[in-house]
Amino acid sequence: MKVMELKLLTRGVVFFLLAAAVRAQVNPEMCRYPLGMTGGQIQDEDISASSRWSESTAARFGRLDFDNGDGDGAWCPDIMSEPDGLKEYLQVDLRSLHFVTLVGTQGRHADGMGNEFAQRYMIKYSRDGSKWVDWSDRKGRQVIEGNRNAYDVVLKDLEPPIIARFVRFMPVTDHSMIVCMRVELYGCEWLDGLTSYSIPDGHQMIYRGLDVYFNDSVYDGALAERLTKGLGQLTDGTWGLDDFLHSHIYSMWPGYDYVGWNNKSFTKGYVEMIFEFDRVRNFTSMKVHCNNLFSRGVRMFRQASCYFRSGPDWEADPVTFRPTVDRVSQIARFVTVPLGDRTASGIKCRFHFSDLWMLFSEVAFQSGSAVYNTSLTPRKHGHPTNTLPGEDPTHKLDDSNTRILIGCLVAIIAILLTIIVIILWRPGGPKSFDASRRILDDELTARLAIQTQAFSSHHSSLSTEDGSTSNSTYERIFPLCADYQEPSRLIRKLPEFAQSMEHLGGSDGAPHYAEADIISLQESSDSRSPSITAVNMNLFAGTDSSMKEFPRDKLTFKEKLGEGQFGEVHLCEAEGMQDFLGEDLSLEGNNESLLLVAVKTLREDANKNARNDFLKEIRIMSRLRDPNIVRLLAVCVDTDPLCMITEYMENGDLNQFLCDLRLKEATEEDKAEQEEKEGESMVSYSKLIGMAVQIASGMKYLSSLNFVHRDLATRNCLVGKNYTIKIADFGMSRNLYRGDYYRIQGRAVLPIRWMSWESILLGKFTMASDVWAFGVTLWEILTLCKEQPYSQLSDEQVIENTGEFFRDQGKQVYLPKPPCCPERVYTDLMLSCWRRNAKQRPSFQEMHTQLMESLA
Ligand code: ADP
Repeated sequence: MKVMELKLLTRGVVFFLLAAAVRAQVNPEMCRYPLGMTGGQIQDEDISASSRWSESTAARFGRLDFDNGDGDGAWCPDIMSEPDGLKEYLQVDLRSLHFVTLVGTQGRHADGMGNEFAQRYMIKYSRDGSKWVDWSDRKGRQVIEGNRNAYDVVLKDLEPPIIARFVRFMPVTDHSMIVCMRVELYGCEWLDGLTSYSIPDGHQMIYRGLDVYFNDSVYDGALAERLTKGLGQLTDGTWGLDDFLHSHIYSMWPGYDYVGWNNKSFTKGYVEMIFEFDRVRNFTSMKVHCNNLFSRGVRMFRQASCYFRSGPDWEADPVTFRPTVDRVSQIARFVTVPLGDRTASGIKCRFHFSDLWMLFSEVAFQSGSAVYNTSLTPRKHGHPTNTLPGEDPTHKLDDSNTRILIGCLVAIIAILLTIIVIILWRPGGPKSFDASRRILDDELTARLAIQTQAFSSHHSSLSTEDGSTSNSTYERIFPLCADYQEPSRLIRKLPEFAQSMEHLGGSDGAPHYAEADIISLQESSDSRSPSITAVNMNLFAGTDSSMKEFPRDKLTFKEKLGEGQFGEVHLCEAEGMQDFLGEDLSLEGNNESLLLVAVKTLREDANKNARNDFLKEIRIMSRLRDPNIVRLLAVCVDTDPLCMITEYMENGDLNQFLCDLRLKEATEEDKAEQEEKEGESMVSYSKLIGMAVQIASGMKYLSSLNFVHRDLATRNCLVGKNYTIKIADFGMSRNLYRGDYYRIQGRAVLPIRWMSWESILLGKFTMASDVWAFGVTLWEILTLCKEQPYSQLSDEQVIENTGEFFRDQGKQVYLPKPPCCPERVYTDLMLSCWRRNAKQRPSFQEMHTQLMESLA
């Protein structure tokens, strides 16, 4: 299309639409302005929440499509402990009554770092801040289907719309999990100012054997013979059709659009309605939408008498209006009742019958200069246009040109895309597609090569740097350039890659592999690494108030158990620990006054980052309760040094434990002898699988919370009595196992040998990448940790191999089958954890079952 033609078309459309713009009653089709979560018109102090996971996920960060950099990308409540408990909410105060027609929700994406979203949610609203109403759709359903990934905006029409000042979004979950939300409300100011109407409930008509209900089915106040203190169908912006048996709204009952009354039930010959307003107003008119199907006994009212009230009493002199009753046309219409500029905060109108039935579908008021400006706003499906702070979105006409232009441009782009698709699908098309695919693959390979070079060159200088940094806290960043940190950016750049993302389960339809981001990307003091700061994740910052402070003087040092990232771990005797244990905790010896515990202490000279990470680990652990997760019992954080007290695991970490063992050969001859040896230095295959079962069970629990561990490995599991295994280390990294981590440019340490290809290349950590790490952990267990995974490959070669997993040309190297591992366990389980397509990897639930079965 030529530019000139486009201009003319645009101008024409603009004039046409402007001419039709101004109305006197709210029109839900037009009243769809973003109310200011994204644009900033809604102030931070007007956004509140029931709780927050941390300061950086406070309510003010719950703005749709908005990231001012200092938060973690969304509002996240405290962990949703009660399924459908509906305790948690994000509340928006619109400061005045608004007609809300549409809501938008989004999850926490945080530049690819987050993956929490609300799959379902409910809405509550209030006009006065004290009386709250649960919103439900016209069929009575309260739950709204929300997001399916962390980044897309999902818009939902509110049918019926809401008239409210306060709106709450309440995530709904099936089980305990972490959800995060960003929201926007769309609508316009409720210029009517009507806060409630009171009417006699509607009647039922039998028309030719058909039940026709004229009740106010969406009334949100008190329901009795007379409806009071609410708003409903008369203010929902939906006007009835000429034939009251039919409705605008699909599959509703006959008469749905109207509230109606039968003359016979009213001895005085009129229906009395009382309207209450937010303040004293100067009323010019009232518009009543009436049905007039007189062939069926329905007619508009013959007379309306309205009384006014500004104080406690009704004024004596009403305004009376007698419309010309139309005896010719049966068309439903708005009848305008002039109100003579009377001042009132309450109006009582008596509508007199002129036939057997009187049916109303809408009542609207005009007061002072309040006239709805129904300029153009995209009806739906569009991404909301942001408005600048300070602009009043409900009084905007002048952006319509821009909106139309954008609309036209979108249409042109759509046409161009269609043409491109047609070209691609022409015979010969796939060939060129292949070529472009090859180029893109090459591009990626080149990028990988460059990155690898960067890694290698830097890695070689690590030995000198290492000594100086070995005691500093770890940081995680994503290894590749910014594009690779956010899958969606990659998708945009590499259309063919988008396809592979589909297969990865990274887009819609994916199982809820949401990330809880236990990642610790520290506020870097190094100004050369802004990327770290940009993706800084403080989801778990702060301490958990529910974790009890233990008196230090009741801890008696026994021995040093090990040295960790933060400091030393000591075995201590704790006196009076029973009082600190929850009822659900059954620790051996907990009925005795002295209990052996492990006390992890933060080094005295630890910097602020290490301190924050330590507190973060406390916060994470305090929320986890599972027999296969190491339990935090109490803390000492009132004074330095900070300590966390966890249950004591007699046999230390699983890596060391297995490393010291030998596999028992299960041959009949030497069985008795082997049994004797077991417990000293021998372990059977079934015991090993028993360990894997326990890890799978702990991970199953974490996945039920949408919690991604990111660092599952034998070194991060602890062993108690009788081969009890518990997952630990929610802080990542050990000095002892420094070799398992790959340090990038002196800033990041990554357990690359346990990481999925998409975690390394795309920075994507999900339950599916934890599944990958579980496969490696299982391999470690079955090889009794005698060697590091891919021990024959250097770190750089491991990253090269990751590239092969991405390219999927059969050149990738898999960990070999451990000698004791049955073929089926290797192919059905271990290898399935390393499938390229994350969607095709098994869940922890499935692996747990499979491993249990292999034991039987
Ligand atoms: P890091 O912080 O480097 O991940 P940790 O501080 O968790 O390491 O642990 C260091 C060592 O202390 C472990 O290797 C283990 O041997 C020992 N340890 C830690 N926690 C416990 C515990 N709860 N019971 C027994 N030993 C433990």
